[in-house]
Amino acid sequence: MIFQGNKIQVDFLDQAAGIVEFRYDAKDGSVNKFDQQTSTEYEQAVGALEARDDIKGLVVTSGKSVFIAGADITEFVGHFQRSQQELESWLYEFNQVFNRFEDLPFPKVAAINGAALGGGCEMTLVCEYRVMGASGQIGLPETKLGIFPGWGGTIRGSRLLGIDNILEAVATAKFYKPDEALKVGFVDAVVADDALVDSAVDLVKKCIKGELDWQAKRQEKLEPIKLNQLEQAMAFNSGKGMIFAKANPKQYPAIALAVEAIEKHANLQRDEAVKVEVAGFAKAAKTPQAAALVGLFLNDQLVKKLAKEHSKAAHDITEAAVLGAGIMGGGIAYQAASKGLPIIMKDIKSEQLELGMSEATKLLSKQVERGKFTPAKMGETLSRIRPTLNYGDFGETDIVIEAVVENPKVKEAVLAEVESLVKEDAILASNTSTISITRLAKALKRPENFVGMHFFNPVHRMPLVEVIRGEQTSEKAIATTVALAQKMGKTPIVVNDCPGFLVNRVLFPYFGAFDLLLKEGVDFVQIDKVMERFGWPMGPAYLIDVVGLDTGVHGAEVMAEGFPDRMKPDYKGGIKHLFENNRLGQKNGVGFYKYETDKKGKPKKMADEATYELLKAVQTDSRQVDDQEIIDRMMIAFCNETVRCLEDNIVASAGEADMAMIMGVGFPPFRGGPCRYIDQIGVANYVELCNKYAHLGKAYEAPAKLVTMAANGETFY
Ligand code: NAD
Repeated sequence: MIFQGNKIQVDFLDQAAGIVEFRYDAKDGSVNKFDQQTSTEYEQAVGALEARDDIKGLVVTSGKSVFIAGADITEFVGHFQRSQQELESWLYEFNQVFNRFEDLPFPKVAAINGAALGGGCEMTLVCEYRVMGASGQIGLPETKLGIFPGWGGTIRGSRLLGIDNILEAVATAKFYKPDEALKVGFVDAVVADDALVDSAVDLVKKCIKGELDWQAKRQEKLEPIKLNQLEQAMAFNSGKGMIFAKANPKQYPAIALAVEAIEKHANLQRDEAVKVEVAGFAKAAKTPQAAALVGLFLNDQLVKKLAKEHSKAAHDITEAAVLGAGIMGGGIAYQAASKGLPIIMKDIKSEQLELGMSEATKLLSKQVERGKFTPAKMGETLSRIRPTLNYGDFGETDIVIEAVVENPKVKEAVLAEVESLVKEDAILASNTSTISITRLAKALKRPENFVGMHFFNPVHRMPLVEVIRGEQTSEKAIATTVALAQKMGKTPIVVNDCPGFLVNRVLFPYFGAFDLLLKEGVDFVQIDKVMERFGWPMGPAYLIDVVGLDTGVHGAEVMAEGFPDRMKPDYKGGIKHLFENNRLGQKNGVGFYKYETDKKGKPKKMADEATYELLKAVQTDSRQVDDQEIIDRMMIAFCNETVRCLEDNIVASAGEADMAMIMGVGFPPFRGGPCRYIDQIGVANYVELCNKYAHLGKAYEAPAKLVTMAANGETFY
C-alpha cells in the first residue's frame, strides 16, 4: 500500500507495469466529497507518490457510485468567515496540492464512474486524460452557491474546453452527461460502465508506451490560452453577451467575477493564473449573495433532513385519490402518476375530468417531444390516472387529497362524505390555500386522520408542499403526507395551522402593501419593475394576474377575518376594484395587464390604459414614490409577517421559513429568504426602517421578536 487513508487509498493495480490506483473511497460515508479530512489525505497521498520512483502511471477511481460530489460546503463555509486575505492564502496553499498532483512525473487518467462535481470535477482536470462511464456526470456548479471554481477549475477548464465552453459551464452551473461532456471537452472518451477502469488503465499504458503524448496534454494546461488577442476578445464578447443576457451581475456577482478572472488569467502561466483565480474566488466568497446562497444550500439540507425524520412513521401509500379535477386536482393527479403512483381522480362534472386528462396528456406530450419520455411510458403514466364520477374504489385508497372549490361549506360536506367511504386509517388531506385545517376538521369523525397538503400552482413545476398540522392531526397523518409529497417529487415543509398557513399568510400582507401603494397613486408598472429588479420573478401586479384576482380577493377576505389588525384594510383596494370590474387576470385575459396568446400558446402581457382609468376610482393621492420606498414597504410587509409566523410557531425555524418563501413564491434566491434579508440589512437597522413606516399600519410595525433581537444583538443565522 502506498497510502492508506480513511478517504483515499493508493496502491498498485499492476506493480510490474508500475500502474497505481488513486482511489477515493470514504470508509465512513456513502459519498465521496472534499471535506477537511479528504483534503489532508490528498496532500499526504500526493507526498507519498512524490517519494516513490517506481510509478509509471496512475488512474484515479472512486469506490462509490458518485465519483466525488464536490467540496463539503458545511465544512468549507467556515473558511468564508476569514478575511479575504486569509481566505486567499488558504486557497492558494490548497491549490499547490492540485499542482503537485498535476506535476507528478507520470501520466494520470481519471475514471469517472458517477458525478464529478465542483472540486470533484477539478480533481479530474489535473489528470492528463478523463474517461467517463455511461453513468458519469461532470460539472462546475459553484456559482449556484455564489462562488466559482477555486481549485484551478477556471484555469484548466479554459485551456481544455475553450473560452466559450468554460464560460457556459461556470455560468450555467449545469451537469454534463457523457455525450455532452465529450462534446465540450470535459472528457476524452466515454465507455460502458463496466469497461471504465480497464479503459482508463489501457489509456495509461498507451501513455507509458509513448503512443499518446501525455506531456503535451499537460503542457496545454500549464500555458496561456492558445488564442490571439483578437480571437480572445471575440470569444469573451460573445460569451459575456450570452451570460449577462440571462444573469444579472448585480444579483449574481460570482458569475461576473468568474468571467473577469478567466479573462485576466487567459494569458498567464498556471502558477500565476492560480493567484488570479484565488483572488476572484475570495472576493466572491465574501459577497452577501454567497452568504445567502450557501445559507440556502444549508437550509435545503435542513428541510430534507426534517422531511426524512417526519416521514419515518409513514403508512405505505400504494394508491391515492384526488377530489376535484380542476387546475389543482388535475395537476396533483398528473404529478402522482408521473412519479409512478396510481391515483383516482374524482369530479362531479365529466367535462372537468376530460379537461384534467387533456392537461395531463399535454404535459406528457411535451416530455415525449423533449425525449424525456417514450410514447409507451406516456401511455403507462396516463393509465395510472383513473378519472371517475363516483366513489366506487375509494374503499381501497390510502390517502384522499381534497382539491374542490375554495368554499368551507362545500369542503366540509365533501370531506364528511368521503370520510364515511374510506378505510378507517386512510388519511384525508385538504389542498385548501387559506381555510384553517382545525376548522375543517370539525366536520369529521376522525380529525386525527385529517391534515393540510398545500400544493402550489402549477403543481408539476412548483417544488414546495406545505403539510399543515391541525390541532388534532396525528403524527402518523403528518408522516404519511410528508412521505407522499416526497414520493411525488416535492419538498414538504411541516407547518402549524392558521388561516393562509405559512406562505399565503405572508403573501397577503405583501399584496396589502401593493394595494396601499396603488391607493397613494403609485403606478403599478413602476412597482412591478422595481420588484423585478429587486429579484422577484414577477412583480405583484403581474403575480396577482397569474394567481387570479378572484382567487386573490377571496383569499384576502379569509385572511382579513383571521388577522383583522393587519390584513383588513379600511378602504377598497385596487385589486378588489379591478375584480369587481370583471378583470380576473390571465384567466379571462384582463387584469392589471391585458393578455394575448403568443405563437407558443402562452399568455403575453401588455400594458392596458383602461387599468389606469379604473384605478382612479380607488386613488386618494398621486404621490411620486421613489424605488427604495417601494422596496422597503413591500419587503417590510412580507418579512414582518414571516417573523410573526415564527413568533406564533406556525413555522419552526428561520431556515424552513426562508426555504418556503423561495420555493413557494419565488423570493429572490440570492437574497436567501426573508429572515436572511433582515439579517443582511441588520436586525436593528431593519427595526428602524419598520419604525419609519409604522404609521402606515400594523403590518409595518416591527414584530416584538425583532425588537428583542435588535436589543440583544441577535440574528437569525
Ligand atoms: P378549480 O375551480 O379549478 O377546480 C375545482 C374542481 O372541483 C372543479 O373541477 C369542480 O367541478 C370540482 N368539484 C366541486 N365540487 C366537487 C365535489 N363535491 N366533488 C368532486 N369535485 C368537485 O379550483 P382549483 O384552482 O383547482 O382549486 C382547488 C383547491 O385548491 C381550492 O381549495 C384552492 O384554494 C386550492 N388551491 C388553488 C391554487 C391555485 O392557484 N389555483 C393553489 C393552491 C391551492
